[in-house]
Amino acid sequence: MTTLIDRFELAALPPSAEAFRQDVRAFLHAEMPPLPADRRARSWMGFDAGFSRKLAARGWVGVTLPRAYGGAEMDAFSRFVLIEELLCAGAPVSAHWIADRQSGPLIRKFGSEAQRRFYLPRICRGEAFFCIGMSEPNSGSDLASVGTRATPRADGGWTLAGRKIWTTNAQHCQYMIALVRTSGTPQDRNQGLSQFIIDLSLPGVTVRPIADLAGDAHFSEVFFDDVQLSDDALIGREGSGWEQVTAELAFERSGPERIYSSIVLLDRWIEWLRGRGETALAPAIGRYATHLAALRDLSLSVTARLAAGESPAVEAALVKDLGTTFEQEIPSAIEAALGANPGADIDGELLRTCAYVNQVCPTYSLRGGTREILRGMIARGLGLR
Ligand SMILES: Cc1cc2nc3c(=O)[nH]c(=O)nc-3n(C[C@H](O)[C@H](O)[C@H](O)COP(=O)(O)OP(=O)(O)OC[C@H]3O[C@@H](n4cnc5c(N)ncnc54)[C@H](O)[C@@H]3O)c2cc1C
Repeated sequence: MTTLIDRFELAALPPSAEAFRQDVRAFLHAEMPPLPADRRARSWMGFDAGFSRKLAARGWVGVTLPRAYGGAEMDAFSRFVLIEELLCAGAPVSAHWIADRQSGPLIRKFGSEAQRRFYLPRICRGEAFFCIGMSEPNSGSDLASVGTRATPRADGGWTLAGRKIWTTNAQHCQYMIALVRTSGTPQDRNQGLSQFIIDLSLPGVTVRPIADLAGDAHFSEVFFDDVQLSDDALIGREGSGWEQVTAELAFERSGPERIYSSIVLLDRWIEWLRGRGETALAPAIGRYATHLAALRDLSLSVTARLAAGESPAVEAALVKDLGTTFEQEIPSAIEAALGANPGADIDGELLRTCAYVNQVCPTYSLRGGTREILRGMIARGLGLR
């Protein structure tokens, strides 16, 4: 019988990946825009196409993709280090984030040779930014019920009609990879779904940004009004969308971005405490460091399985659930600690960072699949339901 321990065989970063860390730090030291902590706290939600292109020019977008397609052909552990360093610095990486993390690997795995040759070099040059078209107004957690439909045309190609929502960066991206229905009805669930690459500049596509509570407009609603797609917009086989999207979600859920979303705030707070010579909160900080070390090992272990070509969906769900719980605990604890000392001279940047992270942290356990859904998957994976 497979036990929980078997699922998380620990993996270590190879020396080459640790050596690469120094290159990334030197690059960030030279090229990172001078942003205050409340801007850096946006980390992978911070959009800066110019910065993404600088990274691409250094060869660090699409790092794991083969050289033949413009990639750096680095291993998954070097990518782990790169991501970890970008997040801890609070680099504005959102422009290329989704293409690097999942669209590129998805096209490499399931796309045709022509799709690989067209899209992957553009991703690696920082010219093609991608967004994820999964959620719809009546289909979020219950993803298999998506109603956006692509209908085959008699003369070849497809006609796309429907609507997506909460699509991160749709207003800035050239392409969306969307999960849509190509046969049957929503009652057919995961049968009859397919994935398409949609050029968002096509006639019939309307993108409407949505502002969030913190005043940012990072996601959008996207309408498809009889958009004409050519045959080569389909990724993989017609009807294989569910299997492909499941593989994609393992990449989406297990990376360092599911444990580091509050790290800029944590570091900024520790810096402030250090400046005051305050040590009373050292035990709490030690506890965060310990949690972070364990979560990092779990994330690394899933990275090793993904690198071996496996699709550890349950383990990825576990990393995301535990990671986002940790990320959400930090801002409320820091807010409480600051509030417990009302006479303290707290600088504005720390207060703004704390306020921002507290406002957005509820989204950490929504984006990429909600906590309840992940826990259901974990229970099923462990044979408990
Ligand atoms: C910041 C942010 C960025 C996002 N970016 C994208 C993106 O780029 N692309 C994209 O496609 N989507 C994106 N999303 C959407 C996200 O994937 C959905 O919000 C999420 O899947 C939940 O769907 P929903 O909002 O429709 O909520 P619902 O599915 O309606 O869920 C509402 C509540 O009910 C609970 N619930 C639902 N079903 C069950 C069940 N069976 N058992 C127990 N509890 C249940 C949920 O856990 C949740 O708490 C983003 C969301 C956020 C917050």
